[in-house]
Amino acid sequence: MDEQCIFCRIINKKVPSDIVYEDDHVVVFKDINPQTPIHLLIVPKAHIPSLNDVSAEHTVALGHVPIVAKKLAAEMGLGERGWRLVINCGEEACQSVFHLHVHLLGGRMMSGQMA
Ligand code: 5GP
Ligand code: ZN
Repeated sequence: MDEQCIFCRIINKKVPSDIVYEDDHVVVFKDINPQTPIHLLIVPKAHIPSLNDVSAEHTVALGHVPIVAKKLAAEMGLGERGWRLVINCGEEACQSVFHLHVHLLGGRMMSGQMA
């Protein structure tokens, strides 16, 4: 827990958010500024600042993310339509919150461009 970190504060329920799923490894909540009709943030509970900081100890939690994403996408009716996972890392990728998180985006036709 990093007291200065907004996502740690959300994970520890010190800041309110719209949590849609939680288990031992991740918390999933709605993005406050959604870029698609469905825009969730899948957030490992461990305070990992970015992909530049991952190591073998994070294998289980990070490997768990696509499985949670698939379950939530299916529940929201996105499975057959299509959906996207995005992780921004660092300044040039426009990462703005330095607690690693995975964007789950869906609910409309998206650009074929990724950047
Ligand atoms: P990044 O730019 O780091 O990849 O994504 C950060 C995301 O977190 C942004 O999409 C932003 O809207 C979202 N965000 C930032 N602060 C909060 C917050 O306090 N609550 C929620 N639910 N989302 C947040
Ligand atoms: Zn954090």
